[in-house]
Amino acid sequence: FAKEAGRIDGVVFDESMHRQAETRLDIGSYLPRAAERGELELHYQPILRIDGRTPTGFEALLRWRHPKYGLVPPAEFIPVAEETGLIVELGRWVLENALTQAQAWRAQVPGASGLRIAVNLSARQLQDHGLVATVAEAMENAGIDPSAVELEITESAVMKDVERSMTTLTRLRSMGIGLSVDDFGTGYSSLSYLSRLPVTTLKIDRSFVEGLDGSDAHARPIVAAVTMMAGALGLDVVAEGVESEDHLRELETLGVGLAQGFLWAEPMPGHQVAPWLAASAAGAPFDPR
Ligand code: C2E
Ligand code: MG
Ligand code: MG
Ligand code: MG
Repeated sequence: FAKEAGRIDGVVFDESMHRQAETRLDIGSYLPRAAERGELELHYQPILRIDGRTPTGFEALLRWRHPKYGLVPPAEFIPVAEETGLIVELGRWVLENALTQAQAWRAQVPGASGLRIAVNLSARQLQDHGLVATVAEAMENAGIDPSAVELEITESAVMKDVERSMTTLTRLRSMGIGLSVDDFGTGYSSLSYLSRLPVTTLKIDRSFVEGLDGSDAHARPIVAAVTMMAGALGLDVVAEGVESEDHLRELETLGVGLAQGFLWAEPMPGHQVAPWLAASAAGAPFDPR
């Protein structure tokens, strides 16, 4: 009988769905104040050159340290922020903080002067009229060189408004900023059109890297084709989600230049970056404890 009571139009709401909905509402109402309360933090994941295993930079990944739910991953609040438009403000916070932090490492950590910082942009940010000014201001405030900055966008974000995206990306690129297509291979954009975007890097989606273990017969030919195409277009390639030496060997054979994944490091809080770099330079595994 209790089950019947929870049935609406054939959908049974169980305990966990109820909790999810509750969490989502909570997140929607608390998120606008999260930045002011100092609950947002950036974690950083290294990107390495496969040849030589040397770090080339870090990707900044947003987390919310929620008083009730602990560390909330972006998948649980970025979509909410995207819906309400709050992402534009959050995105500005991310840019300011990531670029300032990265410039501090470049200036202060031995051997870090050439490191780059990658920041994710959502669809709504890409369509926002203030984006170019926001990026310029964040770079100015951080005192960071545009060539050390990489912005990551997805194919689907670009597709929301192709003309506008093209104009914005062209302006950002002409400032000297690098542009990556994130989760490459999961969207539906045509290649002819992608090749016209002023991007500098393709980030091969984790799903293809995962399939390199033989579980997906299409993974290898896809990674090979993307890498060949990128080479012909003069673009860099980053493999996302590299979790094993097997993945890495496979990617090396296929000619992929750069990689990112748990094999080297999970995204880490900012204070762990300098020690991680030191351990990495010494060829030692990093122990965060
Ligand atoms: P993304 O940009 O594709 O980021 C890569 C995601 O893969 C990150 O998840 C990272 O922790 C995860 N990852 C990295 N290496 C591995 C691996 O070896 N194995 C596995 N299983 N996962 C790996 P995260 O941090 O949860 O971020 C998820 C997504 O949230 C990001 O995907 C990005 O789309 C979005 N996001 C994160 N931070 C921001 C931000 O500041 N602004 C915007 N607009 N979006 C963000
Ligand atoms: Mg990304
Ligand atoms: Mg990605
Ligand atoms: Mg991804």
